[in-house]
Amino acid sequence: MLKDIRSMDLAELTAFVKELGEPSFRAKQIFSWLHQKRVYHFDEMSDLPLSLREKLKDDAVLLNLTIEKKMVSALDQTIKYLFRLPDGEYVETVRMRYAHGNSLCLSCQVGCKMGCRFCASTKAGYKRDLLPSEMLEQVYQVIQDTKEPIHNLVLMGIGEPLDNYQNVLRFLSLVSSKDGLNIGYRHISLSTCGLVPMIDRLAEENLQLTLSVSLHASDNETRDEIMPVNHRYPIEALLQACDRYTEKTHRRISYEYALIQGVNDSEKNALALARLLRGKLCHVNLIPVNYVKEAGYRKSGKQQLYAFQKVLTDHHINATIRRTLGADISAACGQLRREANIQTNEHRGDGF
Ligand code: SAH
Repeated sequence: MLKDIRSMDLAELTAFVKELGEPSFRAKQIFSWLHQKRVYHFDEMSDLPLSLREKLKDDAVLLNLTIEKKMVSALDQTIKYLFRLPDGEYVETVRMRYAHGNSLCLSCQVGCKMGCRFCASTKAGYKRDLLPSEMLEQVYQVIQDTKEPIHNLVLMGIGEPLDNYQNVLRFLSLVSSKDGLNIGYRHISLSTCGLVPMIDRLAEENLQLTLSVSLHASDNETRDEIMPVNHRYPIEALLQACDRYTEKTHRRISYEYALIQGVNDSEKNALALARLLRGKLCHVNLIPVNYVKEAGYRKSGKQQLYAFQKVLTDHHINATIRRTLGADISAACGQLRREANIQTNEHRGDGF
């Protein structure tokens, strides 16, 4: 098996070059070719001896993603990429431009197992996890294509990051490396549907990233209905894990709440949410639910949205309304998919 060299950290790379009978300083040189100059052929690594380049070609591979399709929103210049992976699978990635810089919304799995009713990413089921190099490639390819830097990363594309824990953590350490893109953890958000044991594990890493938690309901009955994961980890257990996370990391948690007309958007729902979050170090992101054809949910009206926000702010809970970007190219939250016309249906997301 050829080694996926762009997924290696410096320690692994050092062990690898030693195995090849080379001095360890070569690892640093290679790391810089992989993550700063971001080359796609070992022959471009011009300060390495020819013999080493040949050994690398024999033992390692430089996986790359190709841009299958690129769509630019006429509304707000959001760009959506459909990337083809080395095995012919597809994922989507979205580049958004904000006043404070460029943000990239990344995918971490091909499909998703979680089965949230309102989300397109889960509709064709789950296929596989992405490798660290495949997550990095989404960033590197977009930088190369747009010729602009990326300032912020959000792990809010296709997949559940805490269900691909080790690869995601490795990706984060590579993308934040001083010898790589050097995107600091404070510029990275990771969003989860609420896998409680993994939230506890992440807390132990004590990273300075922003944890976003997809809550979307203020009672278990409603959450059970729209998010199957709630059967396994109900709201009380989830919020307790979030409290432990805050206690450990001192980071403010961001709760995501997609407002669905007639499902979770009443004043009663808002009051229940205010009660749940009372006294917590947190922020609530309200998102009018985006259209997904299989789901059939409709977004709440403006009045409902503002009324919901007012209940929260009246209870001293910081709540903002997320602007929808890329709506005309189906690039908004929950609208990303593996590919159009998918045939396969394995592990249909209903696993709870
Ligand atoms: N699996 C992770 C990250 C992916 S989704 C998670 O569940 O958090 C990123 C965010 O978009 C989540 O908060 C998700 O619940 C939300 N989302 C999914 N479908 C949506 C939709 N149709 N409209 C608005 N937000 C949606």
